[in-house]
Amino acid sequence: MKKVIYLNGDWVTEDEAKVSIFDRGFMFGDGVYEVIPVYQSKLFAVDAHLARLRSSLQSVDITLPFASAFFLDLLKETVKRSNGRNGIVYLQISRGVQTPRNHEYPASIKPTVLTTFSEKELVAVDEIKSISVEISKDYRWERGDIKSTSLLANVMLKNQARKRGYDDAILSREGCLTESTSSNIFLAKGNVVFTPEKSNLFLHGITRDMLITFITQTGFTVEERIVLEEEIFEADEIWLTSSGRELVPVSSVGGIPVCSKNQESSVYRQVFEIYRQKVLKTTDCERVERLSDR
Ligand code: PMP
Repeated sequence: MKKVIYLNGDWVTEDEAKVSIFDRGFMFGDGVYEVIPVYQSKLFAVDAHLARLRSSLQSVDITLPFASAFFLDLLKETVKRSNGRNGIVYLQISRGVQTPRNHEYPASIKPTVLTTFSEKELVAVDEIKSISVEISKDYRWERGDIKSTSLLANVMLKNQARKRGYDDAILSREGCLTESTSSNIFLAKGNVVFTPEKSNLFLHGITRDMLITFITQTGFTVEERIVLEEEIFEADEIWLTSSGRELVPVSSVGGIPVCSKNQESSVYRQVFEIYRQKVLKTTDCERVERLSDR
């Protein structure tokens, strides 16, 4: 089936969707985005994603002539027109088209708005493949909390890991873990789960927040704190989280095995099952309906 794309007010096909070469998204990576998961044709945690979008837009000084309700309707319409069941909606906003090229942007510039839906299979916990990672120096800028489309450093770090034979990289800054190249990181030791505390250095993942809420409700202890690089090698389990990939277990770091995911009793497995159940049952879906009626 052909992809349905929303671009600047029109619903178009992949072939028809065209953006100017003078778009600042292309020229400067000057834009922000959101990835919202969809389960059973319902947007999940959409309020949290829209709140983060507002925060990203504000941080980079992009002003939009739309209220959140516009985005909510747009996201729902994207899922509907795509006949989407399970997957992700990608919402990208660049500052817009400007010519001649100039670092300085005019106040009047009109942002470019794009949405697409990608179907993803819901994979059962037994079928999830664990991944290998390396630890890399986090040399990115100090505003990792902005969900910016300027992802060059993340792209470089991911591909460096791939070239060295790993699936991904866990990033460390001055001896402290931040995140992975496109996901947040959790560790477990005994029954305690811990994850780096929020700062401006990494993205405050919505999956991270939801997971913490869900598993705390179920009686797990979760610590949000500084996590030292060496704790990687003391942890019983490590996993990565993101809207697109949910929870992915890490089997080795720099070739050293860490994960006990295949054991029935692993914290990963329990936590994954709690997360999946909560997500599928969540009442956020009902909230989506109510918000859109405003
Ligand atoms: N960190 C980075 C760098 C990311 O790109 C992402 C999203 N892919 C995440 C963390 C996880 O964020 P979320 O749970 O909101 O998808």
